[in-house]
Amino acid sequence: MKTPKFILVTGGVCSSLGKGIVAASTAAILKSAGLKVAIMKLDPYLNVDPGTMSPFQHGEVFVLDDGAETDLDLGHYERFTETHLSEFCSVSTGKVYSEVLEEERDGKYLGGTIQVVPHITGKIISKVELAAKKMEVDVLVVELGGTVGDIEGEPFLEAIRQMQSKYGSDMVCQHVTLLPFLAASNELKTKPTQISVRELRRMGVVPDVIFLRADCKIPKKLLKKVSYFCDVDEEAVIPAETVNSIYEVPLRFQKSGLGEILAKKLNLGKLKFKFSEWEKGIDKMKTTKEELLIGLAGKYNELDDAYLSVIEASKSAGFFFDKRVKIEWIDTEKIEEQDGEEWEKLTKVAGVIVPGGFGNRGIEGKIEVARYCRESNKPYLGLCLGSQIMAIEFARNVLKIKDATSEEFDENKKSKNHVVHFMPEQRKIMKKGATMRLGAYPCVLKKGTKVQKLYGETKISERHRHRYEFNNKYRERFEKAGFCIAGISPDRSLMEVVEITDHPFMIGSQFHPEFLSRPFKPHPLFRGFLSAIVKGK
Ligand code: GLN
Repeated sequence: MKTPKFILVTGGVCSSLGKGIVAASTAAILKSAGLKVAIMKLDPYLNVDPGTMSPFQHGEVFVLDDGAETDLDLGHYERFTETHLSEFCSVSTGKVYSEVLEEERDGKYLGGTIQVVPHITGKIISKVELAAKKMEVDVLVVELGGTVGDIEGEPFLEAIRQMQSKYGSDMVCQHVTLLPFLAASNELKTKPTQISVRELRRMGVVPDVIFLRADCKIPKKLLKKVSYFCDVDEEAVIPAETVNSIYEVPLRFQKSGLGEILAKKLNLGKLKFKFSEWEKGIDKMKTTKEELLIGLAGKYNELDDAYLSVIEASKSAGFFFDKRVKIEWIDTEKIEEQDGEEWEKLTKVAGVIVPGGFGNRGIEGKIEVARYCRESNKPYLGLCLGSQIMAIEFARNVLKIKDATSEEFDENKKSKNHVVHFMPEQRKIMKKGATMRLGAYPCVLKKGTKVQKLYGETKISERHRHRYEFNNKYRERFEKAGFCIAGISPDRSLMEVVEITDHPFMIGSQFHPEFLSRPFKPHPLFRGFLSAIVKGK
C-alpha cells in the first residue's frame, strides 16, 4: 500500500464554526475524484468516548458498525463520504491517556518517566497513523476538536507539529476561523483570524489553507489581506460563507478550487472531480418548496443536535418526494397531562417519529402517541425505543395486557408483563464488558412484509444501541393479533423490526436506521414512512 497523506483540520477564534463540515466537505471533494478517503476526529476532552455524554451538551451519540459510540461529527463524515468508519476514527484525550497509563502499568516504559511530550503526543500520532492504516486510505482527513488556544488541545497541536515535520509535503494543515461582522463600521474584521493563526504558529503549526467563516459575502480584498498577514497562498484562502444547506459546502469549496489546491500540495496528480450527484441533490433541495410537518416525540425537545441523524434522514426522505420536512416537536409529558395544545400539534402532523431514548420520562405520553397513531391510521415510525413503545401500546390496548411495560420502566418490579425485557442470552453476542447491544447486526426479513418490500432484499445489516429486547414469550400472541415480526436475527432469537399489518405504516425497528441514511439516498424505512404520508402507500 502507498503511504497515506494527511489533511489536518484545526479551528480558531471560537467554537461551532463547522469544522466538522469543513473536514467532511474536504473528504467529499477528494472522494469525488475516486480517492479512498476517511475522516477521523481527535477530541481533546477527557471522556474516554462520547457514549456516556449527555445529549444536552453533546448532541446525539453516533454509532458505527463496529459498535463504537462516537461524536455526531462522525455522522456528518459518513453522510458526506458514504463511508463506514470504524472505532479507530474517534480518539479522545481520555482514550489516549488511558492507553498510555495502561502500558505504564504493564511495564512497557521500563521505568522511564512518562511525559506529555513525547509519550502522549507519540500516542496521538500513532492513533492517527493507525486509523489511516486500518481504513486503507489514500488520504486521511483529521479534525481536531476545540479551538486553538484551549489548554486541552495543546498536546494535539504539538502532535500535529511533529507530524508536519515527519510527513512534510504528504500533509496539509487547514485552519478554520471566523470573520466577525461589525455593524457600526459595516465590515468584516480579520484581526481575530490573524491572532488565531499567530497562536497556531506559536505552537509550531503552519497552516497551508485557511477557511474564513462569515455570515455574509467576503470581499476579495479581505481574502488577499488574510493571505498577506497569515502568510498563506492567496488561492488557499477559501471563503466559507454561511449557506442554506450544509450539503452546498463541498460544491462551494470546489468552486474556490480546493480540490486542485490539495492535489497540488499533496502531489496527488491530475484529479477529475465529479459532482453530478451532489449538484442534482442540491438543486432538488433548493427548488423544493412544499413543507411537510413531521412530529418528533422525543425527550430532548427543540434540541436538533440530539436527533441530528433522525432529522437528516427525515429531510433526505422528504426531498426524495419533493417535500421540505419541518419538525414539530411533540412534548410527550404534555401529552400525558392531556394538554390541549400539544394534542392539537399531534393531530396536525402528517406522521410521527418516536426516536431512541433512555429512561422513564414522558414514556406514558409516548404510549398515548402510539395508540393515537395506530387508531387513527397515522404513519408512525418507531426507532429503537419507539419500537418498544409500539409493542407496549399494542400489548396494553389490543392484547389487553393492562400492566404491559418494559423492564426499563419498572424499577420496582410492579408489572408481571415485561413485553420488553433484558435478555441474559443477549450478553453472549455483545462485546466483552459491554452493557448494551452496540453496532451492526444482521437481520433476516420476512418475505412479503412491508419492511421487506421497502428494502427489496431479505438480508440486511443495521446498527443498534440498546439494552432491552422484545420478550419472545409474547411473540405468538402478538403475531396472532396482527403485530407482524418482519425481521429477526439469523438465529431467530431476537425480534429486530416489527409492523402492524392492518395499518398504512406503523413500523418499529429495534435498530437505528437513521445512522445509515444518506443525504441523496434516503434509508428504506424513512423513504417508506414518507411514501405512506405523501402517497398513502
Ligand atoms: N432504552 C431502550 C433500551 O435500552 C431503548 C434504547 C434506544 O432507543 N436507543 O433498550
